[in-house]
Amino acid sequence: MSWEDNVRKMDPYIPGEQPDFPDMVKLNTNENPYPPAPGVRKLLAELDADRLKLYPKPDAKELVEALAKAYGVDVKNVFMGVGSDDVLGTAFLTFFTGDKPVLFPDISYSFYPVWAKLYRIPFETPALDENFCIVKEDYMRENGGIVISNPNAPTSIAVSMDFIEDIAKANPDSVVIVDEAYVDYGGESCIPLTKKYDNVLVVQTFSKSRSMAGMRIGFAIGNEKLISYMFDVRNSYNSYTMNYPSIMCGAEALKDKAYFEETTRKIIATREKYKKILCEIGFDCPDSCSNFLFAEHKTMAAKVIFEKLREKHVFVRYFKTPRIDNRLRITIGTEDEMEKLVSALKEILA
Ligand SMILES: *Cc1c(COP(=O)(O)O)cnc(C)c1O
Repeated sequence: MSWEDNVRKMDPYIPGEQPDFPDMVKLNTNENPYPPAPGVRKLLAELDADRLKLYPKPDAKELVEALAKAYGVDVKNVFMGVGSDDVLGTAFLTFFTGDKPVLFPDISYSFYPVWAKLYRIPFETPALDENFCIVKEDYMRENGGIVISNPNAPTSIAVSMDFIEDIAKANPDSVVIVDEAYVDYGGESCIPLTKKYDNVLVVQTFSKSRSMAGMRIGFAIGNEKLISYMFDVRNSYNSYTMNYPSIMCGAEALKDKAYFEETTRKIIATREKYKKILCEIGFDCPDSCSNFLFAEHKTMAAKVIFEKLREKHVFVRYFKTPRIDNRLRITIGTEDEMEKLVSALKEILA
C-alpha cells in the first residue's frame, strides 16, 4: 500500500503547443492574429497596481454587467469563469451527476471526455456522419446531459439554432450545453433559446473572437436557475475565479463593438480567400463557420505535412485521432501569415 494507490490518476487534456520562435507562423491554437481592442491596451496600462492588494469582486460585477448588456440578458443569466474551459468544467460538475450517460459527438472538443472522467460522469460519444455532421437523432435517446460544440471543433461545421432547439425540446430532463467558442465567425448563437428553454446553457469565450486568450475569460448564459446552481458549485471551491485585470479588461473589450466586428469580418474574409487557395493546391475542407480550416490533402499525409511545416516554424494542429488523422486544423491568421503558410506548403508539396 502506498499513497499512490489513492491518487486520482488522469490522462489530461493536451493543449496545442506554445512554441516561441521569433520567425514563427503560429496557426495551431485558434488564437486571434489581431490584438485586443485598443481600449483594452489603454486600460491595462492605466490599471492601478495598488488595487491588487484587495480581493476582486466575487461577482465580477463590471464584467457581468457588460456581458448582460451586450447580449440582452439580465445579470442573473450570466456566469463567468477563467476561460470557457473553467465554465465548461463547472457546468459538467454542476449538471451531470446521474447514472445515465452524457452525450457528445465522437469528434469534438477533446476536453469533454477528460472532464467526464475527472468527475466520474458516464458518457457516450455518438459518431458524426461520414461528412462530419452531427446526427440529431442520436441525441433523442435517454441521457444524463448533452454537450454540443457549435460550430464544432475541430470540424469547423455549424448547425442551426433550429437543430439545437429540436435537441433541447426533446430533452427537457437534461441540461444541453452549447459550446459557442467559434460562433462569432459565422455560426448562429443559441442565446435566444436560453429564454425559451430552462435547460439550455450557452458557453462562450473571449479567447478567440475577442483576441484575449491570455486573459482567460469565459462566460455562460442561461436560465437564472441554471446559473445560480453553477455559482453554488463554483463558490464551493473558489469564490474568486476572476482576477481584477480580467474583470476590467473584459468589460472594456465589450465596449468596442466596431473593432470586434471589423477583426471578425477580416478573419472571415481571409478564411474564404485561403480556403480557395488551399483547394487549388490539393486540399479539401468543409465549409467553415470558425476561425480555422479542417483540411485534408489529396496526396500527401497530414502527419507528414504537419511535421514538414513544423521544421519551417509554421505551426498547425494535427490530431492522431482515428477518422481525423489525415486532417490538419489550420487557424486563420493574418493575410501575411497565410501567405507564409501557402508558400511553405507549396515547397513541401513540390
Ligand atoms: C478554445 C475552446 C474552448 C476554450 O477556450 P478558453 O480559452 O478556455 O475560453 C472551449 N471550447 C472549444 C470548442 C474551444 O475551441
